[in-house]
Amino acid sequence: MTDSSPRKLIIAIDGPAGAGKSTIASRLARKLGYVNLESGAMYRALALRAIEWDASFDDEDALLKMAQDSRITLEPTIGGNRVLLNGKDISARIRERDVTEAASRVSVHPKVREWMVARQREMGIGGGVVMEGRDIGTKVFPDADLKIFLDADPVIREQRRLDQQQVKGPSAQAMAAELRERDRRDRTRAASPLVAAEDAVVLDSTNMSEDDVVNRIEELVEQQLAARR
Ligand code: C5P
Repeated sequence: MTDSSPRKLIIAIDGPAGAGKSTIASRLARKLGYVNLESGAMYRALALRAIEWDASFDDEDALLKMAQDSRITLEPTIGGNRVLLNGKDISARIRERDVTEAASRVSVHPKVREWMVARQREMGIGGGVVMEGRDIGTKVFPDADLKIFLDADPVIREQRRLDQQQVKGPSAQAMAAELRERDRRDRTRAASPLVAAEDAVVLDSTNMSEDDVVNRIEELVEQQLAARR
């Protein structure tokens, strides 16, 4: 008997911080019965390891060795990924400010990226995944079935991040500046800079609700599945 059910898709969601990727990826995955994988959490896990071992964020070879010696596991849950580093739950710790900054710095190195990309491919190759990050449609899965580049006005993205973290006052300004700097680093690094893949659907969520974005992507998924039937 042949299996007539369509193959489960690989969906790539890329874009800058604060565009809503994680929330959208997690909601979409739940609706489709897929798993969502937050590739940024892997860079964050490595960054945490570097902080704990007092390693330089600029030492590419040491960072690669550290990555190779680490067991970084993403466990999709309803609210996002549970992240384990060598069996220890680091999900909350990696969202803190020092790790956020360090992740942006360790991710510039080509050898580190190559290692991460290989692991991410292994995780998603079977399909039925919504993987989000910065280079999923360009590097990790250049043949993804559907590529979304989720963007939003920088001021709105900053505000969303600050609201999420409930930051107000002078530290809000400092955090907004840090976000702009991380964005700049992502977009200008030599290895896999943040750009929309040529065949990505660009969605600007500045004036869209979360529901609008999820519904739009669902329509695109439906089109892909229909084309395969
Ligand atoms: O998405 P998230 O903010 O958790 O990612 C943390 C950092 O990891 C980002 O600032 C970015 O520099 C890097 N990253 C990356 N490529 C990815 C995912 C994240 O360079 N695919």
